[in-house]
Parts: sequence; C-alpha cells; structure tokens
Amino acid sequence: MPLTPRTGAHQPRLRTTRPHPRPRGRRLAAGLVASAAALCLLGASAPPAPLGIGDRLFPHLGNPGYDVASYHLDFTYTGSNSKPLQAVTTIRAVTTSDLDRLNLDFAHGTVQSVDVDGRPAAFTRAGEDLVVTPETPLSAGTWTRITVRHTSDPVPAEHQDGGWVRTVDGLAMADQADAAHLVYPCNDHPSDKAMFTIRVTAPDAYTVVANGLPVARERAAGNTTWTYRVEHPMATELTQVSIGRSAVLHRTGPHGLPIRDVVPAKDRKALEPWLAKTPDQIAWLESKVGRFPFETYGVLMAQASTGFELETQTLSLFEKDLFTEPAYPKWYIESIMVHELSHQWFGDSVSPRSWSDVWLNEGHATWYEELYAQEKAKRPMEKRMKAAYSASDAWRAAGGPPAAPKLPTPGQKISIFRPSVYDGAALVLYALRQEIGTHAFERLERLWVADHEDGTASTADFEQLASDLTGRDLSGFFKAWLYGAKTPPMPGHPDWKTAPAPKRPTR
Ligand SMILES: [Zn+2]
Repeated sequence: MPLTPRTGAHQPRLRTTRPHPRPRGRRLAAGLVASAAALCLLGASAPPAPLGIGDRLFPHLGNPGYDVASYHLDFTYTGSNSKPLQAVTTIRAVTTSDLDRLNLDFAHGTVQSVDVDGRPAAFTRAGEDLVVTPETPLSAGTWTRITVRHTSDPVPAEHQDGGWVRTVDGLAMADQADAAHLVYPCNDHPSDKAMFTIRVTAPDAYTVVANGLPVARERAAGNTTWTYRVEHPMATELTQVSIGRSAVLHRTGPHGLPIRDVVPAKDRKALEPWLAKTPDQIAWLESKVGRFPFETYGVLMAQASTGFELETQTLSLFEKDLFTEPAYPKWYIESIMVHELSHQWFGDSVSPRSWSDVWLNEGHATWYEELYAQEKAKRPMEKRMKAAYSASDAWRAAGGPPAAPKLPTPGQKISIFRPSVYDGAALVLYALRQEIGTHAFERLERLWVADHEDGTASTADFEQLASDLTGRDLSGFFKAWLYGAKTPPMPGHPDWKTAPAPKRPTR
C-alpha cells in the first residue's frame, strides 16, 4: 500500500487494547465431574471475550486454537452498494487445541446463524469477535467446518474504515491491515493464510472479478453467479472482490502468464496505454527477483477515492484517477504500478508474520519502485536515498524505527503506514546493499522470495538469511538499522547527515 501523496483523508477507527484470556479448554471442562451445575458455574466464570494472537500493533487480530485451511465466501449483491449483501462464509480449519468455543474476527454485519460441522451452534458477539460455541467441544488436531450466514454491510459504521470500498458503479475491497473482518468472519491475521473460493451473485449488468482465476459462471433469472478460486494461499487482508460495470481486458505476460485488468467499461480505451505496461513490468521484476509467484495478475482501476493503492493478491487496487490526473508525471505513475506489483512477491507471496514486519513489505516495494524509476526514467536512487537519510531520524522519532513501528494512532486506522516503513525501510535495504555488496544483496532478494514463497516470514528470518548467505553475523547491523532510535552512519557515505528531529513528532 502506498499512500498517494494527494491525500490525508483516512479517518481510522479508535482502537483499544483488550485483555486476551486464553480460551477455556475442553480438558478443563472434562476434568470436572460433569454435573450441569458445575458446567454452568464454569460458563458463568468465563464470559465470552475478544481474543487475539498477540500482535503487538493489533493485539485483538486473529484467534487462538485453530488454523484455517480454506474460506468459501458467498455474496449476493442486489445492485445497490448502500445495502447489505447477503453472505455465507464457510471456514474449514484444523484445531490446534481443545476448544469448547472458538472466536472469529467479525465486526460489521448481522449474524443470522452459525453451524459447526453441520450442527447449529450458539454464538454471541464480544468486541470485534464472534464467539461460537459448538454443540460438542472440538478436540485438538481435528478438522472442523464452520458456516456463518450473515450480512456484509458496505456502509461503514462510525469509526470503522476499510473493508468494502463503495465505487461509483459498485464495490471493491481494501482490507489492509485489519479490515477483512468488516466484510466476512475470519481469522484476520496474515500469519494464518488460507485458500479462498469466492462466489458472487449479482444482476446481469454487473461484472464480478475476484482474486485468482474464474472457475464457473452461471446465469439464472436475471442474475449471474461468478466463482473465482486462488491457487496459492492468501492472507485475509489481501482479499479482493470487484463488482461494477466493468470491462475485463485480457493479455498475456511473460511465459504465458494470464493477465486480466478490470476497468470501468467506458474508460477502457483511455486506460489501455497504462494497462499495456504491465507485461514488461512483470518481466523487469522477474529479472530482479525471480518468477512471478501467482497464477494471474492484473490491475483493478476503481472509480473511488481511497487515498491509497493496494496490493490485493493477483489483482491490485488503484484509484482510476491516478491514471487520468494530468498532474502526475508518467514515471511516477509507473513506479506506483511497480510498487504494487512488487508486493505480489513481497507482502503477498511472502506475508508478514506480524504487523511489525510490515517494513519487509513496504521497504521492498519502495526499493523496486525506486529502482524502476532509476533504470527506466533516470531518477537516481542514490539521490532519493540521501534525502531519505536526511529525514530518517525525524521519521524514526515520529513513527518508530522501521521494525518496531509505534502503535497505530488512535482514530487513525492505517497510521502504521508511515514514512519510516516506506522510504525509511528502503534506506535500510540500501545500507544493507552497501554493507554486503550488490551481488550478495541481489542473491539475498531472490533467495528470500524463493525460500518463503506462499508462506509467512519475520524480520528475524530476513536477518538470519542475510547472515547465512554472507557468512557474517549481521545481527549488530540489523539491530542498529531496524531498531535504533537514531539512524546509523551510512556505509560508504560518511558525508551523509541526518537533519535534526523536530521537537514534536509530526506525521
Ligand atoms: Zn506498499
């Protein structure tokens, strides 16, 4: 996600830290003599509570006790983007502990029913969680299927931002970092990636495109049902569903990669010159880091004012105006396209283990954005790095060092996306290249995306790989560059200076 410079329009929701009691286990319940009175007392002493997996920045996200293997999302769109969609979310998961109830993240929409393994289950809300109590407790290490019938409301509640994006002609989705659970019940953390099938029924006049490739299209009674499936695991934050009066334009990328772009039907001719750039951009990135990691790619140009672009898996979301506003230089627009494209490797295929690892997403995407501008538009990377170096202490003071970002600002939901994790993190990669040399750095980049393809990885994993590859203990280097309050001296550029940090942090 790069924030487009023309905006500051996000009004994120207020977050509060909540306690994270461990779920009451089945063994505990079974250990009691199972009198109705005892179970009743136990239930009363442990009321349903919101849970999380301990993410430092978003402590309420994700849930303990299970690992999701697949989501089947089923939405019915009426043709109005101000009315709730009817939805059925089916989750197949394996339990990792005994559970007499389990939590899903879900914060916006009405729940009509929940089934667990085909049997009706009790449910209640706790904070941003949906707490489900199955008829029979679930044992550790078993498969379970949870089906939630619910609505999915595209109109945001107060203090809630993200999830569905209402466009001029329908809907798109922007779930990063913590908004997938405003759309559907899920284990909303990138450390629990899963397979997705997305099925949407909409009036015939609409075109629906979602992550992955189409697997079915059926028409009945004035409606069309579109089904898409991903071929690689995906984080919930990367879900994309576009419903609009769209044209879908097909072309072929390197080694036969199917590319499909989604644009407002009336603008297809005007936008074509931009769309035509994608195959060469993919080929360029493949020459740097290796083969494109997914089954398809494309650009979704939405008629919406989001204030950012977003690397939703296989189909990146852009504001259409980015391409039609004459004030933006061509090289800049292209470098933003490359930023989102490079996230398909860095962020999507290799997802952050926790949100404090987001510098690995944004630092790399900014790196390739800058490298592309250098190679294709003669915008020297070193000049931008020197400017970033100058600002780096101020960015660290305002947002925290790259790998230990400050908590989201209350009321500003996506405020973890600060300069410190963009240009500030690209600067760390530049320092690393200065330190270990271009050849080792380029090998590291290729190895990183190959070793962690379709997985999640942490800052410690990156440090370890760099140390293993170079045969050096780089822990001191990374500690200073990733966690230091002050920016260390730049290897090879002793003349580079940081400007003093302002007394009061600014955004
Ligand atoms: Zn980004």
